[in-house]
Amino acid sequence: MTILRAEHLGMCFGVRDALALTHSEAARQPVTVLGELVHNETVLADLRARGVRLERDLDAVQTATVVITAHGTSRRRLAEVQARGHRVLEATCPLVHFAHRALTDLVARGLHPVVIGQREHVEVRGLTGDFPHADVVLSEAEIDAQPERAGFGVASQTTQPIARVRELTDYLRRRFPRSEVVFRDTVCQPTKQRQNAAEELAQRCDVVLVIGGAHSNNTRQLVATCAQFCDRVYHVQTATDVCEEWFQPDDTVGLTAGTSTPEATIRATEAAVQRLANGLLELASVGA
Ligand code: SF4
Repeated sequence: MTILRAEHLGMCFGVRDALALTHSEAARQPVTVLGELVHNETVLADLRARGVRLERDLDAVQTATVVITAHGTSRRRLAEVQARGHRVLEATCPLVHFAHRALTDLVARGLHPVVIGQREHVEVRGLTGDFPHADVVLSEAEIDAQPERAGFGVASQTTQPIARVRELTDYLRRRFPRSEVVFRDTVCQPTKQRQNAAEELAQRCDVVLVIGGAHSNNTRQLVATCAQFCDRVYHVQTATDVCEEWFQPDDTVGLTAGTSTPEATIRATEAAVQRLANGLLELASVGA
């Protein structure tokens, strides 16, 4: 069995910086992260072990300092947190800030805001929080349901596959040929690099393991992308999820991972696959 690692594995800079900021602050004073800092259970367990509190509900926050996650939030929500007397520490990724600025610019130009993404995802709720009239779409059917408008301003969740985002934007243009459609590319570079690398990897492999949190959007998108090119794609959160029956002795196995997956989890998963590969080889040699 051959094991291949995709390029661009390991945490993206946005997640790394958010964690570093939270760790250093938590070493000085009690802090609460509002929501999941990143969508990875291993990372969240480590934060809890460092004494960081994680709360979804602002009413439950008991510390003076509140950390806003890498996914960002709306100005309205920030003001709400500050109005309750909390000190706000923004761990928001700069590329999420960029998406917020892009949407704000589109609205300032008089365009109707459309966000391509998952309506209930925390980043998308943050993006649309200051624009309650914004529409969130993720399919042609949802675009069909839009009324015609003079102009649409399109941005997207940072972790959507750029090819699909462009496809939906083109569909919007065809659906409303009389409307002005202005598109701002807000898919982040680490997502683009990972998507491209995963696509290349999946074409060379019999099996692909995508390592990442169950709630991580970019991990799920990597699974969907790899599944277009490879029939045997498995989403694992940790090494313990790896199953022997997924592999054959001659398989080429590819590994890729979401942007919030720690290197230690990737290494442990690779080691688990290697152990299985060694076991399969031994079995094959006994059989021969
Ligand atoms: S996935 Fe992209 S937008 Fe999200 S934290 Fe990483 S670099 Fe920033």
